Amino acid sequence: MDISGTLKRCSNNLNVNELTTKNIQPKTSPIQMVDLKSQYQKIKPEIDEAISHVLNSTQFIGGPVVNEFKTALERQLKVKHVIPCANGTDALQIALMALGLKPGDEVIVPAFTYVATAEVIALLQLKPVMVDVDPDTFNVTAEIIEAAITPETKAVVPVHLFGQSADMEPIMEVANKHGIYVVEDNAQAINADYTFKNGETHKAGTIGHIGTTSFFPSKNLGCYGDGGAIFCNDDDLYSKIKMIANHGQVKKYYHETIGCNSRLDAMQAAILNVKLKHLDRYCVARQKTADYYDQAFKEIPELIIPTRQNNSTHVFHQYTLKVENGKRDELGVHLKKYNIPFGIYYPLPLYRQNAFAKYYDGKPLLVTEELCKSVISLPIHTEMDETLQSYITAVLTDFFNEQSVQAI
Ligand SMILES: *Cc1c(COP(=O)(O)O)cnc(C)c1O
Repeated sequence: MDISGTLKRCSNNLNVNELTTKNIQPKTSPIQMVDLKSQYQKIKPEIDEAISHVLNSTQFIGGPVVNEFKTALERQLKVKHVIPCANGTDALQIALMALGLKPGDEVIVPAFTYVATAEVIALLQLKPVMVDVDPDTFNVTAEIIEAAITPETKAVVPVHLFGQSADMEPIMEVANKHGIYVVEDNAQAINADYTFKNGETHKAGTIGHIGTTSFFPSKNLGCYGDGGAIFCNDDDLYSKIKMIANHGQVKKYYHETIGCNSRLDAMQAAILNVKLKHLDRYCVARQKTADYYDQAFKEIPELIIPTRQNNSTHVFHQYTLKVENGKRDELGVHLKKYNIPFGIYYPLPLYRQNAFAKYYDGKPLLVTEELCKSVISLPIHTEMDETLQSYITAVLTDFFNEQSVQAI
């Protein structure tokens, strides 16, 4: 048995004695995946004032506060148009409705994503064509998309999973070559910067024909309820999207098309106006936690730390590790013992969900299958301090040290 790796790891670790099970006391104060309470405490005066302003104005739907947010987000993302709406799922649905597709048209979507991405496709009587993802970035690639294109393909929905942009430049090349639309699901990577080969940088979600996002409370830019937005640079698409989100109406009580009712309310917009000012700082805070985790885990052979692309910044909506040798669930039990919450995003490929059974051709996607069995996401948020980070990393390190001791 070769224990040199284990010994090397132990000797590299100055606090090796602290990292045995006996010496780590399980924390009893609850740890959260996302600590919205501490975050609120720090910006409470600004938030409370913004909410009180809306209460006093009694302008609860639309109005200046929503417009202020729309403009502020356009500036932050350097995109021509933002259309606020009720949530990230609506944003995807409205984006697809704006493309004028016919029932049965094919829309390519990763099988390794949150259900909303594929759900809206099926809901609109379009056909979700599920594809695999890159094993390192967890995102779809231009090659994967191109291989799935048929004469029926009309659109693709790349998802910028866990906080890093899919490789959009080649994806746009493939989409333009085949004349298909690109709708970016940017619910998890708001504010990530994607860099083109010529050095130009664009925000994730503003590169395709349409981009969508969610302001669900735990998202990187979250409100205190439901919220979402759609982005685009094209004026015609903008008019269509605005109309569809508002009952297909261009002039009050005159309806051009069947639309829906999807609004961001003024209270949520007021909260988002405050939090948008902190977004850059919040991204840095998440990246710092990710750096700390990376340092702690990079020498553990059975843990694969997140791959950082050089053409996209990572805003770490999730810090997602791959656990080798089938030990993911056992690690989960260990974390539970130490009161450390974790997430499995996602435990089941979308094509294996009962809801999508009729779209499954029986051919499993190998990377997606493997990821569903091996990924684990650790707590990451804007308020993590070093005490918490070192506790979490010690508990994980301890698990793998114990494992190597047993192996000897
Ligand atoms: C959260 C999320 C959505 C849906 O957002 P809601 O606001 O909850 O409707 C869609 N896609 C992805 C990838 C998400 O993470």
